[in-house]
Amino acid sequence: FGYGFTRSFLASVSLAVAAIPEGLPAVLTITLAFGVAAMARRNALIKRLPAAEALGCTTVICSDKTGTLTKNQMTVLRVYCGGKDYRVGGVGYEPRGEFILQDKAINPADDKDLIEALRAGLMCNDAALTEAEGEYNIAGDPTEGALVVSANKAGVTEKLPLLDETPFAPEQQYMATLHQGDEGNIIYVKGSPERVSRMCHSQLLNGSIEQLMREQIGEKADEMARDALRVLGMAYKAVPKEKTLLTAEDLDGLVFLGLQGMIDPPREEAIEAVGKCKRSGIRTVMITGDHTQTAKAIAGQLGISGGGDKVLSGEELSGMSDEELCEVVDGVSVYARIAPEHKFRVVTQLQKKGHIVAVTGDGVNDAPALKAADIGIAMGITGTEVSKEASDMILADDNFASIVSAVEEGRHIFENIRKVILYLLPTNGGQALLVLGAVLLSPFIPLFAHRLPVEPIQILWINLIIAVACSLPLVNEPKEEGLLERPPRDPKEPIANRLFMLRVGLVSVVIAVVGFIVYYYFGSPALSSPVDELRLTQAQTAVFSTVIMAQVFYLFTARSIMKSVFTFSPFSNKWVLMGVAVTIGTLLMIIYLPPFIGINPFRTAPLPADWWITIILLALPGLFVIELEKLVKRRLGKG
Ligand code: ADP
Ligand code: MG
Repeated sequence: FGYGFTRSFLASVSLAVAAIPEGLPAVLTITLAFGVAAMARRNALIKRLPAAEALGCTTVICSDKTGTLTKNQMTVLRVYCGGKDYRVGGVGYEPRGEFILQDKAINPADDKDLIEALRAGLMCNDAALTEAEGEYNIAGDPTEGALVVSANKAGVTEKLPLLDETPFAPEQQYMATLHQGDEGNIIYVKGSPERVSRMCHSQLLNGSIEQLMREQIGEKADEMARDALRVLGMAYKAVPKEKTLLTAEDLDGLVFLGLQGMIDPPREEAIEAVGKCKRSGIRTVMITGDHTQTAKAIAGQLGISGGGDKVLSGEELSGMSDEELCEVVDGVSVYARIAPEHKFRVVTQLQKKGHIVAVTGDGVNDAPALKAADIGIAMGITGTEVSKEASDMILADDNFASIVSAVEEGRHIFENIRKVILYLLPTNGGQALLVLGAVLLSPFIPLFAHRLPVEPIQILWINLIIAVACSLPLVNEPKEEGLLERPPRDPKEPIANRLFMLRVGLVSVVIAVVGFIVYYYFGSPALSSPVDELRLTQAQTAVFSTVIMAQVFYLFTARSIMKSVFTFSPFSNKWVLMGVAVTIGTLLMIIYLPPFIGINPFRTAPLPADWWITIILLALPGLFVIELEKLVKRRLGKG
């Protein structure tokens, strides 16, 4: 094209510098880091940076019930023993409350069956009731704490010395302890009613050991569970003094003592969060070790189940093949009496259906499910180290609502990443077109053969200042309304979809065309012989200023992808205003300072004041073209 070597070299360098978004990786990392910090403020601690972004496309959240969806503040409301049904009064953990039988308060000390049932709950127990300044609290598992409180309400407080213990394990559903008694030793067992009644052959009735009423016990347990109560059964067995170690064989032929049913109210925030999920197309699935009826009742209170959703029990699940499970998995919103290994199966089948699955877990055995999930979530308070290790995210407050906040932040991160890329790429596109166009047009337009419209060093500066001062403020862009009102994003959809390419292309072309016009308009008069080099420099400076100003104007509309710039306050993100001030401030310094300080690294020349009117008028179209494009898009109603 009649370019000398130096020219060609400069043009290539310009093109390379212009086309590559040097600042983008840094800005994206900063966006993610900001998002992670925002999540941390809302009690979701991200362990793996990409998980923050994956959260935004979650379609199913599988959550534990106890402690995550519920408050985990258990209070025993009912006791069933000796064929009688008692209600327990009192609030919170304070060990004061009446025992009511058929609407009459009774003296528990007179009722041997009741005392023995409560005693078993107290003995087979690792929790303790603490009191500080009249405030009662539980140290240990709240389920067990509730049993300490119910026993204390009846004045049962003495524990026999402990010899051995089989701690509670979710897959076993019981706990057993061996105690040293006066005459012989004694085993106490508590656990799910089904499990405990299977170990029993007899029951205590009016102080004597009678035949076991297995069916009646089962019915009572179901009835309590339907009232959303968490039900535990207690039993005991007298063993000889020589017995000092517990084995599995000992847990047979027990004497059934009774049932205790406790409420664990749903968290109010969880009810709200479940509603939010629904509106944003995310399904909430409850996975619990608790009784089917309890799970169902709580799920109803939370608004999880409904509309023909099914409840699946661990037993039913064990009998199903993976294919059968896959068939029904989309219609099940509650899994009850689930063992941890079932959780893994549920997660993998949901994924097979194309879902992005977030799953919570606290136990050691939850690790496979946490690892398999797209987002494994461990509990910060009650979680084991193993589960935290296997997770992508830790919930500092064990609260379901924090998961939903994190999802919202995840969507926010993605939205901001899109904004930043949409904003940054046209800077490069526009300049690349400008340089390339100038090279290609140079045989026809002498001005372009003389000098490129912008100098490489200027291109470098534009990229730097736009990435730092203008796109970084977008990272701080507040959430747009309705972020959680939209359906989840399809993770397979590329960031660079049609809308995206169209917009980047549009802005790039506008910037390039405006650049040419400015250069031609201001530069052409310089070509009268002798060539006016100063005027050429000024024309380049004008192009440099125009590109920067066009990006400044574009920034205001880039703050929202679909909404018009005129619908939100320009002051709602003060960082944008600061960025703009820095950009314009440095631009003016670069142009007007060199004559005073004597160095001019950017090869600019001071511009006459009246040039600025043209520059600003020509820099504005970028904003309006995009506003027009947004308007058309909104009219057509697609995103
Ligand atoms: P989740 O945590 O999903 O509510 P768990 O696996 O903790 O379910 O409990 C399942 C069942 O095991 C409960 O319904 C209850 O009957 C029994 N259970 C729970 N905690 C204990 C415990 N500490 N000791 C004995 N049995 C328990
Ligand atoms: Mg539990």
